Amino acid sequence: MKFKVPSLHYHAYPKAGKWEMIPSKSLKGWRDFALAYNPGVAFACEAIVDDPHSVYDLTNKGHLVAVITNGTAVLGMGDIGPLAAKPVMEGKSVLIKYFSGLDSIDLELAETDPYKLIEHIAALAPSFGAINLEDIKAPECFIVEQALIERLTIPVFHDDQHGTAIVVCAAVLNGLYLKNLSIEEAIVVVNGAGAGALACLSLLCHFGLKKENIWLCDQKGVVYKGREHVNPYKAEYAQNTCKRTLSEALQGADVFLGLSKGRILTKDMLSVMSARPLIFALANPVPEIFPEEVYEAHPDALVSTGRSDYPNQINNILCFPYMFKGALAVRASCISQEMKKACVQELENIAREGEWGSCGAYEGELHSFGSKYFIPKAFDPRLRVRLPMAIAQAAVRSGVAFLEESVLLDFKQQLIW
Ligand code: NAP
Ligand code: MG
Repeated sequence: MKFKVPSLHYHAYPKAGKWEMIPSKSLKGWRDFALAYNPGVAFACEAIVDDPHSVYDLTNKGHLVAVITNGTAVLGMGDIGPLAAKPVMEGKSVLIKYFSGLDSIDLELAETDPYKLIEHIAALAPSFGAINLEDIKAPECFIVEQALIERLTIPVFHDDQHGTAIVVCAAVLNGLYLKNLSIEEAIVVVNGAGAGALACLSLLCHFGLKKENIWLCDQKGVVYKGREHVNPYKAEYAQNTCKRTLSEALQGADVFLGLSKGRILTKDMLSVMSARPLIFALANPVPEIFPEEVYEAHPDALVSTGRSDYPNQINNILCFPYMFKGALAVRASCISQEMKKACVQELENIAREGEWGSCGAYEGELHSFGSKYFIPKAFDPRLRVRLPMAIAQAAVRSGVAFLEESVLLDFKQQLIW
């Protein structure tokens, strides 16, 4: 509540909203107007007709990211509609600008039918270098993203799925390293089976997590083979088991990954987990369990939340600006699995080197890699150089880049700003 008045004031003054458009070329007299618009602009149009790729040299397409929602799953507020979603999307656009230098525009579409949404977004694609799908509810988000990836030749990235998965994966892999357990052996209980949770599982499996070691729970408890009304995305992780509740699933588990609802976990429920468990209580703003309670059950637990007032904050800001920056640097046609994995590995590496000075927004002691610091912090300056480079290199390696690797020499210089 302490943020209510200052936040409304922040949004309203001195000018309503969080961003504005500023021309990047001079518009001072008749000559500038003749170049920017009629008659000079026709030469730019003709050049693009002759060579469509020149649109990247002559317009803002190559550095413009659309943040697109239909407002059906906005933060923890749910289906509040496209109009009320606008402050969130404007916020996402300015975060892209701040952390990557790319430009971004928010688009709130009044459309809940996923198939119509696909058509609308596909029709908008010529304007943008990349598309960030945002806060579209599951399971429709899976249909929309998959269809657009197949149809478009620009990157389409549903941040609630893949941004979450990339950051969670880096933290889980570093946490398992501290616990001295390989991912192939880890037993993982996931509470919540929405966009974020299912994407985490998919990416963790790419890093070696075994499907037979996954226990997926939703509001009805364990997802087991034969349960009625389970959508196909959840059914992929259904276990042949007589376990039915979260408490039963937690028996002997090494990792709890919560992407569900606040306060659904108690310290008694945690007592049946393995020694030194990894607890990711990521529901926002109230986590599935608060860190203090985790430490009462397991003083040496490795704990992470979505909150900035506790160590090891999991936040998508560690990924999405840099994913777009790296992808657009080499004009990637999509976000490949290799690009996601490269981002995970670079986040892991940065954390293992320990916390850096001058992380700006944070005060207090600097931590070395360990239980209080196993994922980088949002304002770490290493992120904005190393993540886009690692992602762009992975795009080239995985054959989805239009430009050659040689452009990366110049790109690295631009990143050091
Ligand atoms: P979502 O797509 O709406 O999915 C929510 C899931 O939670 C659903 O599968 C739902 O079950 C399940 N659920 C709700 N109440 C539950 C309960 N009491 N017990 C077990 N499962 C329950 O939402 P989402 O985008 O995945 O996000 C979920 C939560 O994670 C939100 O609080 C969000 O803020 C947070 N989150 C945090 C981060 C981060 O970086 N910290 C990133 C992404 C999401 P049913 O399928 O049965 O309805
Ligand atoms: Mg979101």
